[in-house]
Order: sequence, then structure tokens, then C-alpha cells
Amino acid sequence: MRVLLVYPLFPKTFWSYEKILELVGRKVLLPPLGLVTVAAILPQTWEFRLVDRNIRAVTDEEWAWADLVIFSAMIVQKEDLIVQIHEAKRRGKRVAVGGPYPTSTPQELEDLGVDYFILDEGEITLPMLVEALERGETSGKFTSNGEKPDVTNTPIPRYDLLERDAYDSMSVQFSRGCPFQCEFCDIIVLYGRKPRTKTPEQLLAELQTLYDLGWRGSVFMVDDNFIGNKRNVKLLLKALQVWQRERDYPFRFDTEASLDLADDEELMDLMLECNFAAVFMGIETPDTESLQLTKKFQNTRSSLLDAIDKVTHRGLRVIAGFIVGFDGEKSGAGQRIVDFAEITGIPTTTFAMLQALPNTALWHRLEKEGRLRNPAANINQTTLMNFEPTRPVEEIAREYVDAFRALYDPVQYLNRVYRYFLKLGAPRVRPTPKFPEWIVIRALLLVCWRQGVVRETRWLFWHHLISMAIRNPAVVDQYITVCAHNEHFLEYRDIVKAQIEAQLQEYQRSQREPVEVAV
Ligand code: SF4
Repeated sequence: MRVLLVYPLFPKTFWSYEKILELVGRKVLLPPLGLVTVAAILPQTWEFRLVDRNIRAVTDEEWAWADLVIFSAMIVQKEDLIVQIHEAKRRGKRVAVGGPYPTSTPQELEDLGVDYFILDEGEITLPMLVEALERGETSGKFTSNGEKPDVTNTPIPRYDLLERDAYDSMSVQFSRGCPFQCEFCDIIVLYGRKPRTKTPEQLLAELQTLYDLGWRGSVFMVDDNFIGNKRNVKLLLKALQVWQRERDYPFRFDTEASLDLADDEELMDLMLECNFAAVFMGIETPDTESLQLTKKFQNTRSSLLDAIDKVTHRGLRVIAGFIVGFDGEKSGAGQRIVDFAEITGIPTTTFAMLQALPNTALWHRLEKEGRLRNPAANINQTTLMNFEPTRPVEEIAREYVDAFRALYDPVQYLNRVYRYFLKLGAPRVRPTPKFPEWIVIRALLLVCWRQGVVRETRWLFWHHLISMAIRNPAVVDQYITVCAHNEHFLEYRDIVKAQIEAQLQEYQRSQREPVEVAV
């Protein structure tokens, strides 16, 4: 069996980082970990090819080669997924779909001629596909019926199938699931509230595979909450610490974690000793009432400011996620988020309007209340909310656009990065210094040229850079990297503004149109 694995295009998003990737000669931030895991679970006597459409298009030769095409997609990839399914069918291919989007709303893809739906987690449903193919069945919908697989049996992903040079970072996953109950979160719907972890040996074997393939540098632990099972994660980190030290720290890790990381100094220290640099944290909002309403209770137990400061002083750089549009939210939520980012100094903040993702607790509540709007619409950071909020959507959208622009205003951004890095703790590990590659030197020179010569930020840029080199020299390399990130956000904030304003006009037009009354 010849299987072509295809990963659809992402729209331009906060996370696509095109401008920054361009600087360092890469095309995409992260590889499709789900698809390389699929390839590892299917029979190894089969042949596989993988095309990430974010890198390049599928060639005629690849389409012709394939007996079966498997797509995996998240909801933001929906548009391109549908185009690619049509293309595969036009070419007479058998098509299978899986991943978070087909799992949460398979009915949206039912009329497209998809032959096999591989829903839920592949460890359970991919063997069902194999059996169905062996029986000669030409269609099927495979679900796990609520059963969650034991991930200690998950094989090492087929990283060898990736065009690794195109990626800025590689991905590994230690755990699935999260113990918390945030109302808007689809992770707990897809993977459950009992975190399931791999064994330390298993994860080290994955890292060793990447190492043997020649990968060095950034590795993202894609766990939605890396510290969901603290006991097991500490066991992993103790083993990883030794592995990293023995190889002179070939990898630098980033991950996502809940805010209770701040209460566990041992855990933070272990992460630092394994060469973790940044951690994404869902702060969501500084408004306590909204946090309670959305059941993000873990963020209300202690001061958000203290928690962020603790993590920062220890040496882990916080990337914060914020949301506007919670029920009962008072006017000015966007500005309160900007103020919060300014006080904490957190440089990189992802920001979105609240959306109801299919099958989440929020989705079910809004459905019951008759407030879902355009539920089949695409959902990303440049789309209006897909439900009727409790205050005017125009007001929320305006606050969102204004806050986005303020957060990534070139001067405000440079000042915030500077204040933050002055208090960031120094890295605990020091790999043997190596002469940087030419592409890195070129990227550094370009950032200095754009921010330190061309733009009006020039004096601020040099002042802050020299001051940082004197006052906190251990973090200067990270500091310049984060300054460079605004190359992406500067453009992205204009995309957000243009797209949100266009949708807002559309929305207002639809509100003005007379409603037909049946008589
Ligand atoms: S902490 Fe994060 S992963 Fe866990 S339920 Fe909340 S939003 Fe989801």
C-alpha cells in the first residue's frame, strides 16, 4: 500500500511567523507531528510519503503514486483541506481524513466523497482502518467510542519522512489530556481530563531519533499542558537532564503549561536544567469574574502578576495567551489586557476573540441558549466570534483590534521586551559555544538594520540593546530573537485589523437586512 500523507495549508496566523522564518531561511514553524505518528502506527511494510502544503504543493507524480491519501487537519486548516479532498477525488484517489477537525465535526465532510474517517486517537482507530482495508471495505467511519489509548505503546514518530530543513523547530509529545476544566477548551473533549503520559525512555528514544537524524536546536513539547501529571513529568525531566548533559545540550525546549507551574520550584528548576527556555501560559484575562465564569479556576487561586513574576525571575520566558469576549465582560477588557501585559512586561502575547469550538462545554451551553452564530464558519484569530456575546460584538471587535495594535506598536513592544528581559533569570545551562551559522548572522544584521537604522525606533533599539548587554548579558541572544518577532506582528496586526473590520461591516449589513416574516 502506498500512502500519501498530506497536511493542508494554514492561513496566516499569529503562529505562522512568516517574516521571522524568512529571516532564518525556514518555511514553517512546526512539523505535522500527528501525520508522522500516523505513519509510525500503520504497518511498516507499507510505503509512505509526506507533503506539508505549508512547504510546497503535492506534485503530479506524488498524486499518481498514491493508493491512499490521508489528510490530517485542525479547524483552521478546513478551507485547504476541502480543496485538497476535491483534488484527490478528482484524481480518483481513495481518501481518509483524521485529526482534531474531522473528529469534532465529521458531518461537515460527509458530502465530499471521503472514503474513510479515522476519528479520535489513531492508536485505536488506525488499526481499524487497516482491518477494513484488508477486508476489502471501500468506506468506513472508525471511532474509539470514548476509549483513550495507552500512549506508552505509541511508536516513535516517523520523523524521517519530514523535509526537516524547512522547519524552525521539531515537535515531540509527552502527554495528552489536561486535568482542568476551562469551558472553552477542546483539548479535554478530544483527549480527556486524565493526563496520559509516555515513559521517560520512550520520549528519550524519540529525541535520540531526532538527534541521529542530525536535528539540533529547537524542540517544542506540544503537550497542551506539559505539567498535567507533575509526578511523571518530573521523572521525565530527571532522565532528560542527564541525556542533554551527555550530548552537550543539543536541544532547546519550549512548551505549554498551566499557571500552577509557578507554585512548583523543583519543577521549574528541572525544566531549566533540561534547557527549557519559553513556556506558553493561558492567562486568558486579568478579569477574575470572567476566569470564574469560564471555569479557569486555577488562574484565580493566587495573584496572576506574582505567578508570572516567579516564573520569569526563575528564568523561563512566559508567552501569554489572552482572550476577549467572555460572557458578562465589562467594557474596556481589551485595554485591561494591554495594561496587564505592560505591567508584567510579557513580550509575546497571543490574543483572540472567544470562539465556541465544537463539542466544548461552551458550545453546548451556547447551543442550549440559542446563541451560536454561523457554527460551520472557519475559526481563527481574524474571524469574528461565532456566537452572540453578552455585549455588542462591535464593541468587542473594536477593543480587540485596538489592543492588538497597541501590544505590537513598535515602540511599546521594544520597551516591553526590554523591561521583561531585565528581570528574566539567566539560563542554567551553558552548552559549549559554537560559531553561529551565516544565516543567523545575516538575520541578526537584518534586524539591526530594520529596527536600529530604518525605523524610528533606532535610538531606543540601540539604547536597550547596549543596556541589556551590560545589565543582563546572559539573556542577550534571546532578547534579540524576541525583538525580531515584531517583524511578524507588525504586519499581522494590519491583517487582523483589515479582516476584522471587513467582517464587522458584513455583520452590520446582515443585522440591518429586514427579516422575512412568514404569514
Ligand atoms: S488549562 Fe489549558 S489545556 Fe487545560 S483545560 Fe484549560 S485551556 Fe484546556
